[in-house]
Amino acid sequence: MHRVPVLIVGGGPVGLALAVELGWRGIACELIELTDGTIVSPKMNEVNARSMEFCRRWGIADKVFNCPFPADHPLDVAFVTSLSGHELSRLPRPCRNTQAPLPESPHRMQACSQIWFDPILRAHAQSFASVRLRYRCRLDSFTQNADRVTAQVTDLATGRKQEIETEYLVGCDGAGSLVRRSLHIELVGEGTIGHPINLFFRAAPDLVARCGKQPAVFFLGIDHSGLWGSLRIIDPVNGLWRLMIDSTDGNATPENVDREFYLRRALGGDFEVEWVDVNIWRRRSALADRYGRGRVWLAGDAVHQLSPTGGMGMNTGVADAVDIGWKLAAVLQGWGGARLLDSYDAERRPVGARAVRMATWFYKNAEAFPKGSRLLEQEGTAGARARAKVGAELLRAIGPEFRTVGLQLGYRYEGSPICVPDGTPEPPDDPAEVTPSARPGSRAPHVSLRDGRSILDLYGRGFTLLRFPGAPSSSDLEAALRWRAVPLTTVDLDEPKAAALYERQLVLVRPDGHVAWRADTPPRDVAQIADTVRGAA
Ligand SMILES: Cc1cc2nc3c(=O)[nH]c(=O)nc-3n(C[C@H](O)[C@H](O)[C@H](O)COP(=O)(O)OP(=O)(O)OC[C@H]3O[C@@H](n4cnc5c(N)ncnc54)[C@H](O)[C@@H]3O)c2cc1C
Repeated sequence: MHRVPVLIVGGGPVGLALAVELGWRGIACELIELTDGTIVSPKMNEVNARSMEFCRRWGIADKVFNCPFPADHPLDVAFVTSLSGHELSRLPRPCRNTQAPLPESPHRMQACSQIWFDPILRAHAQSFASVRLRYRCRLDSFTQNADRVTAQVTDLATGRKQEIETEYLVGCDGAGSLVRRSLHIELVGEGTIGHPINLFFRAAPDLVARCGKQPAVFFLGIDHSGLWGSLRIIDPVNGLWRLMIDSTDGNATPENVDREFYLRRALGGDFEVEWVDVNIWRRRSALADRYGRGRVWLAGDAVHQLSPTGGMGMNTGVADAVDIGWKLAAVLQGWGGARLLDSYDAERRPVGARAVRMATWFYKNAEAFPKGSRLLEQEGTAGARARAKVGAELLRAIGPEFRTVGLQLGYRYEGSPICVPDGTPEPPDDPAEVTPSARPGSRAPHVSLRDGRSILDLYGRGFTLLRFPGAPSSSDLEAALRWRAVPLTTVDLDEPKAAALYERQLVLVRPDGHVAWRADTPPRDVAQIADTVRGAA
């Protein structure tokens, strides 16, 4: 038996992100992972702008930005009858070295596959003395009472069984989550909405050029049967590809799937490849009906299962990890109130529901795209005319799946029990566009400061009180927070752009970069505000 304040179950990207968040906050934790951590065939390939902002805080954004995905490789999405067939249309997305900065964030979505992202997280987690990562270690079961959780685990290298006593357990153990099932937490929603197959292969790095196409990251296949699958280049240097068959009858097995047939259909001819892996999986649309019970919490695919359309699965899980991470730290450090952890469910479950809803909508859009005619594959004027028409329709119908900056950055904690509403109306929630807002519950918006930093760089491990010119005294609020041991930094900021965007002279930003409270006048009941934002009201 040994003791640890936080036990994380699962060393996928979400469990690793939680280990990093806790390590960055100096909280001792242990992560146990069933496998040895090797990734043969990656699931996720896109780290979105919000996850990049978290990486920036942790000090690893440069590593993700400079991952081995080539900086001059366009991130375009092309619609093709096959890789060597006709191209109908193309959604341009600039390569890393020509990307203009977004006005809303210091970062953009990055093509950084799990084969690189997980090891970056892993190495960073291991750099914290308070974090212990244990691979080939399995959670078998756990029990909890009012004071602690006791986990039964097996070290798979030695077969030795062991008990770990912990104050909090977080299940980041993926879609099949033993932790979620043990808590009798149900998944609600449509459930399985498709039976896709992923085929991973290596091809010569010049495959795209040999097929007569300009580089892109996605080649979405459309023929007379409609949109049927996609080719994704994961690692252009080493020629690693994923061919996804969008949906099948559900009877495929790795042994009976006709890989050569699908490959020929996708490439439009015979090309030599080296097969790497076959994944048969279920496309899901489901959300847990609660995010934890007692001292046990859940994050990532354990609580939200969504179609990869829109690239929101892991990214939503990373933001879960940040939310539960700062709250666990606050409680373990003694300044978090008795209701702080409950706010994790209140804040993150609606965001999970939003991600599931949008991802399902993107998928169903593609599924409902009308079947093409055989003209699409024909040479000549009639074929060209059909391709131009369908190409434009594809950009309209499927394009939104790849224009998601609002989805990435615009989530907010409406009705959060630990934010103080200011009576202003909700801005629109448009997946394609962000409406930057410092309304309580929102992600405190990015502004470039005069010295070149982002305002996000001012938000640290504790609360940050921004005071814009003309701000009234905030000393009572500061004293109330300090008296409760809430870590606080006060920043006097003479930055007109930021003052205009934040709209109030006093703005209190939380340890996760969301706005907790704002006003132009000092609060009358400072104790109430201080207790609300630390979950003790
Ligand atoms: C084809 C595809 C493409 C995708 N693309 C993207 C994308 O571009 N962007 C994006 O954000 N998301 C994407 N996703 C979704 C993303 O991959 C998942 O949301 C993400 O991997 C979930 O991470 P996780 O850590 O919650 O779960 P997992 O990655 O499933 O990790 C869970 C871990 O827990 C371990 N575990 C399970 N049980 C136990 C136990 N009893 N004891 C110890 N360890 C245990 C497992 O071994 C596993 O390593 C994609 C998914 C697919 C299928």
